Parts: sequence; structure tokens; C-alpha cells
Amino acid sequence: MTTSTERWIRNYVDGEFIDPDPQRSFDNLDPTTGALVGRVHEADSPMVDRAVAAARRALHRGWADTPVRERAELLRRAANRIEERFEEFVAAEIADTGKPITQARELDVARAPANFRAFADIAAAAGQESFLTDLAGGRQALNYAVRKPLGVVAVIVPWNLPLLLLTWKVAPALACGNAVVVKPSEETPSTANLLAEVLQEVGLPQGVYNVVHGFGAGSAGELLTAHPGIDGVTFTGSSATGTHVMRTVAPRVKPVSFELGGKNAAVVFDDVDLEEALTGLTRSVFTNTGQVCLCTERVYVQRGIFDDIAEGLAERAARLRLGAPLDPATTTGPLISQAHRDKVLGYFELAEQAGAEVIAGGGIPELGTALNAGSWIEPTLWTGLTNADRPIREEIFGPVAALIPFDTDDEAIALANDTEYGLAAAVWTNDLRRGHRVAQQMRVGISWVNTWFTRELRSPFGGAGLSGIGREGGESSLHFYTEPTNVCVQL
Ligand code: NAD
Repeated sequence: MTTSTERWIRNYVDGEFIDPDPQRSFDNLDPTTGALVGRVHEADSPMVDRAVAAARRALHRGWADTPVRERAELLRRAANRIEERFEEFVAAEIADTGKPITQARELDVARAPANFRAFADIAAAAGQESFLTDLAGGRQALNYAVRKPLGVVAVIVPWNLPLLLLTWKVAPALACGNAVVVKPSEETPSTANLLAEVLQEVGLPQGVYNVVHGFGAGSAGELLTAHPGIDGVTFTGSSATGTHVMRTVAPRVKPVSFELGGKNAAVVFDDVDLEEALTGLTRSVFTNTGQVCLCTERVYVQRGIFDDIAEGLAERAARLRLGAPLDPATTTGPLISQAHRDKVLGYFELAEQAGAEVIAGGGIPELGTALNAGSWIEPTLWTGLTNADRPIREEIFGPVAALIPFDTDDEAIALANDTEYGLAAAVWTNDLRRGHRVAQQMRVGISWVNTWFTRELRSPFGGAGLSGIGREGGESSLHFYTEPTNVCVQL
């Protein structure tokens, strides 16, 4: 039952929040305690139709033809306004995810204005390709490309970094003159709505940004990707869902950009600065409770320092502080939901069956009455597994990694590349020649040396294999969110 005092998270279509239908709604829960955050209005088929139609009308009303300079200016105003309302975004992200306040501020919400500013700059500075083509008889033709907006873009994002990943797609889509229909994760609906308010406040024309809430299969996600009125899909989520979306979109041959799962390796050489590597590995395994697509779940360590790294990392895992998100000393939040914790615990069982030795964590922590109803889990490390074991082959998406020894560079490269995924890798070494060589041989979209999650928004970002299709970031985003027409003029 709902009461009038409950907080409603509504769909946002054609510049307005739509009154909710209590018959068609679901709970938004706080994962730290299991308490109700609000009720979310699930979009049905007519609501998705309305959103797509509103987006189309907005394009025709002139948004698609707005000078890029004006669109860039609007994106910059949006960045400023997010900063003015920064703490509201932080609070909304925390209510949905339970992530620690320091992380919500420094990573999640900080990246939203950064995304808007970066794509304002990138779009405003973009040039066009042009070629002079030699023809018979000494004549020439001038070829140039005119990049037009793709049109109505469906933006589907997950729950792990909700605002960061949403703005990573919405900013370039708008910069290129598209209208969007956004479907946030059912677990984290709030910041997409706050962004709607911000975009309205800075004067984005009605219908250019729409939000429909709901689940995937049989709900708003599938209704949107199956909709004949969309011109492309940009999707971040699991590889399994990516294959569903691809099938749904295939009959209409729409462009897709897929940023999918990972099973990322770190390779630690014995020449490394131990402290530096341990600090880096602690971040790369446990940031956001391991719920970052880029997180390390496989740590390959050169045999001579294996015990040092295993002991040092286990010690650091034990020192992580799980607790209430508003406590600035908290380093680690809960998993997003009980269902996700069940999945992660399933891998704990599989690891034990495969003979893993648990050198840190391994279970559910005792955090006191209020928090015990939340979906908490201990930061966990395993040794004794091999690349043949399921916990090493499948993405777990929790605060957990396995440490595996290696002897030679070639062996490390082969072990790291022995996966169907191909998102990210991190190489830890004091030998820069080795760092470049090994990093380049990783079959991944991004390969770090002596760092992790250091992002340059002008660089191409994406994954190989099961980790995705296409790249976004910098010019790659401009390419995805536009459709070029080559004009050829005989001179
Ligand atoms: P998910 O695939 O379950 O859901 C992602 C989004 O897709 C949600 O909004 C969901 O409602 C929607 N969805 C689900 N089924 C759908 C369907 N059939 N049709 C249309 N939409 C559908 O992923 P998740 O559990 O929310 O997020 C975690 C996953 O995301 C992990 O695998 C992680 O690695 C991946 N991820 C990848 C990146 C990247 O940049 N490569 C970044 C973050 C997260």
C-alpha cells in the first residue's frame, strides 16, 4: 500500500513529470538497511510511446539544427547547475546505492559536470574530414562529411555508477543534437530524475531529455529497445543483457554501442614498488564494493613476491571499513541488493568447492542491528584457484579477487588474456619498457600501467570480446551519436 507522504519517482516525458499510477509501481530500497526509499512509477507501453514521440517532436522543432555552439553552452550551464545542486545529487545517489559519501562526492557526482564540460568542448572543437580526389583528365572532386544527429537515442544504464554512466552518454548525445529517452536501472532511478530537473532549469527544450522507469525484459527497457521510433541504442550493463538487447534491435538494424561486463586482470611483476602496488590493488579490487566494470577480479602475481602481495592485500582488505554511508570514515558500502549478494555468495561457494583458500573475508559481516538487514558482504580474497575455475572465468561484480602466481612475462600475458571478456587490465612494474610491452599485449579496451581507473574523457573507451561493441569517449562518441553523409562535389 502507498500513502500520500511516500516519495514518488516519476517518469519524465516531454518536459514534465507524469503523475504516478500506484497500480504500476515498484519499491526503491536502501541497500544499507533494506528500508523503503520511495516508490517508482513503472513505465508501460503507452508511456514509452509518449517518450519516444516527444523526443522525435523535439528534434523536428529544431533541437537537431541548433548550432553546436549553443548546445555546448547549454551543456556547460548544466555542469554549473549540477555543481550548485551537488549535495542533492550526492544524497540521491547514496539513498539508492548506499555508497560511502566520500566516493559519491569524489567519483560519482564529480564526474557528471566533468562529462558535460568535456563533451561541450569536444563537440565544439570537432572538425570534419575532407579529401580532394584526383579524377581522370586532371579534374578533382571535393569530398566532405556532414555529421547529423543520429536522432532519438535510447540510453540504458546500470546501477553501479548511475549518474556517472548516465551523463557519460547523455552529454555527448545532446552535444551532437540528439534527443534521448533514458532508462535508468530499476535499482537506482533517482539521479536521472534530478538530472531532468537540472536540464529543465538550464533551458533544454522540452522533449529532448525523457526518462522512463522500469525493469528490463518485458518492461520499460525492452519496450524502449524494441520501439520502432528509436534510431540507436547506447547500453551499459551486463554481457548477458547486451545479447538480449542486440537481438531485440537486430531486425531494425539500429546502431548499438555496448559497454558490458569485465573479468579484469592485474599483473604484478616482482620489480614493483610493493606499497604502491598494494595501494593500487586495494583500490582496483574493492572500489564501490567491487561493483565497477573495471574492477580487478584476477590478480596474477610473479612468484617471488606472491606471499608479500597476498599478505599485504589481505591485511588491507581487513582494514576496509564497512558502515553507514554518511560516516566519512566508511570506505565500503553494501552490494546493491539481496539478490546480487545471493549471486556473489554463490561464487563464494563455488570457490570453496574448487579448493580455494580464503585469505580475507568470505562471508557476511556483523554490523549491528540497523545495518544487518542491508546487503553487506565482506571484502574477500582467494588463493589456490586456476583459470579453469568458474569464479575465475565469470564476472562476479563484488569485492572479491583471486590471486594466482606466474613465472614469466609471457605466461602472465597468456593468463590475463585467457578470458572471453576484454575490458580492462592493470600492469604493475617499475620497468617501463616491460610496462609498455605487456600493457599493449593485453586484449582489452583499456590497459593501465601503475594506475587504475585513471580516465581521460577524450580517449576511446570500451571493450573487446564479451565486454562490448564500439567505443565511446572523445571523437568516438561523436562518431556513435552522429550519422555522416559524405558529400562529393566535382570541381
Ligand atoms: P544489467 O544488464 O542487469 O542491467 C543494465 C540495464 O539494462 C538496466 O537498466 C536494466 O533494467 C536494463 N535491462 C535489463 N534487461 C534488459 C532487456 N532485456 N532489455 C533492455 N534493457 C534491459 O546490468 P546491471 O546488473 O544493472 O549492471 C552491472 C553490469 O554492468 C556488470 O556486468 C558490469 O560489468 C556492467 N557495466 C559495464 C560498464 C562498462 O563501461 N563496460 C560500466 C558499468 C557496468
